Amino acid sequence: MKKVIEVKQLYKLYRVGDSIVRALNGVDFEIYEGEFCAIVGTSGSGKSTLLNMLAGLERPTKGEVIISDQHIEKLNEDQLVKFRRDHVGFIFQSFHLLGTMNATENVALPLSFQGVPKAVRMKKADQMLDLVNLKKHKKHYPSQMSGGQQQRVGVARALVVNPKIIFADEPTGNLDSHTSEEVMTLMQQVVRKQKKTLVMVTHDNHLASYADRIFHIIDGKIVKIEDNRKESEEDHHEEK
Ligand code: ADP
Ligand code: MG
Repeated sequence: MKKVIEVKQLYKLYRVGDSIVRALNGVDFEIYEGEFCAIVGTSGSGKSTLLNMLAGLERPTKGEVIISDQHIEKLNEDQLVKFRRDHVGFIFQSFHLLGTMNATENVALPLSFQGVPKAVRMKKADQMLDLVNLKKHKKHYPSQMSGGQQQRVGVARALVVNPKIIFADEPTGNLDSHTSEEVMTLMQQVVRKQKKTLVMVTHDNHLASYADRIFHIIDGKIVKIEDNRKESEEDHHEEK
């Protein structure tokens, strides 16, 4: 399997007044193509900090983040903007949809940053909304959709630029438990169908159980990596 994300001895220290907070305290792991990985831990354990480092939204204090053979920690601001625009999709807890745009226009938005012509943008957005089962809501504005529907739009928007990797920070944090399950099932299916790598952060062990592998984080350290696929893997004979 191809390695798509590699983290080596990653540290993020924040100075708060006179003291130092070790938000990430020496993290190492690898994520492979097509995996759905969940990072699970309690509030303040360092999940968002870790995701922000992976996505190139924040710089590490020390250590390496290698994504698709690129050292993210060495990129300058312009290179980071380009990296995020072309290689990763984001799904946010609060959806981050624009209220003045309908579902199709919201999904198409990331393509306009890439300079894709309007007709192509609309066609791709349309296809993505089919994929997340929002055929009947394409012309709806965010205020005319439920939370679950809005997050489906969020998932479609993350996928529209055809990124290899999708990052999601508490993507169901604003949804009730039933709707959360639906959105998780959708993300799981879509990621599998589209062969994406998904890295999701959550404080909820049950939601984490949708992932192929579960990374447990406590006080800025990965203390355990659980493999959820064990049983199905035993069916195959691994090639050497
Ligand atoms: P989680 O997402 O797991 O709730 P965070 O990654 O947001 O945790 O935070 C991890 C730790 O780092 C917490 O102790 C938090 O207070 C601290 N922290 C996060 N961001 C900052 C910041 N910008 N300045 C100072 N401390 C921060
Ligand atoms: Mg957080």
